[in-house]
Amino acid sequence: MRIDVLTVLPHLFDCFLGEGIIGRAIQSKKVEVNVVNIRDFALDKHKVVDDVPYGGGPGMVLKPEPIFRAYEELTKEGVKPYVILTEPWGETFNQGMALELSKKERLLIICGRYEGVDERVKKLVDKEVSIGDYVLSGGELPAMVIMDAVIRLLPGVLGNEESLKADSFMDRGLLGYPNYTRPAEFRGMRVPEVLLSGHHKRIELWRKEQSLRKTLERKPEVIEKLKKENLLTKEELKLLEKVEKELRGGKES
Ligand code: SAM
Repeated sequence: MRIDVLTVLPHLFDCFLGEGIIGRAIQSKKVEVNVVNIRDFALDKHKVVDDVPYGGGPGMVLKPEPIFRAYEELTKEGVKPYVILTEPWGETFNQGMALELSKKERLLIICGRYEGVDERVKKLVDKEVSIGDYVLSGGELPAMVIMDAVIRLLPGVLGNEESLKADSFMDRGLLGYPNYTRPAEFRGMRVPEVLLSGHHKRIELWRKEQSLRKTLERKPEVIEKLKKENLLTKEELKLLEKVEKELRGGKES
């Protein structure tokens, strides 16, 4: 996959792209990330990329010409990218969208700043994406959020792909199970005995139960949907019954 990012603050990406899973994915060429300074495509000698809004009002707006010029330069050859514009009113980003985007050969993310981008930039855009109902100063953090979630889904990026399957939202929308590491006892808090048992089947069942419990407690609508669409196994339905009983204050079966 190749990802181009258009921004007026390219250095914000330096640390993000050099460290951890993302840094390793780039080094091992699982993904190519190209951060482009919109300012390099400004038309005047002062490299101006913003201007006052027509109709008056506060703030500045990112001009369309440098963004169009950058887009045209970047797409002169190769696959046409799927273009994302970060916007607080865009479609809310989630794991499903991350999975969809991870299948694209090429993405181009345009980061807004100031009061936003000139509306005519939308002509280039396939999807406007929000990372939540709050307003940030720019689209750079949303672009990093999107890239992180997408890149870790690319084949070969995570050392152990099993960990992807255990992640929240990856299996029918269920949430993940709790994790513990050594020591077995810390300040009077003990790791659940089953995890120390070495009994793989029991551990798997316990984790499944915890995942169902957490989903039922925090996202009951997901469980409701899975039940309605018959997407739970017999074993899961049995575990769920036990969890529901416990949550209602009944005795463990
Ligand atoms: N004038 C805009 C409004 O009415 O909501 C707010 C602009 S905001 C200060 C500047 C830029 O940050 C936006 O153009 C967008 O690119 C980015 N941004 C801010 N919040 C965001 C969010 N929740 N999700 C995605 N992008 C966001």
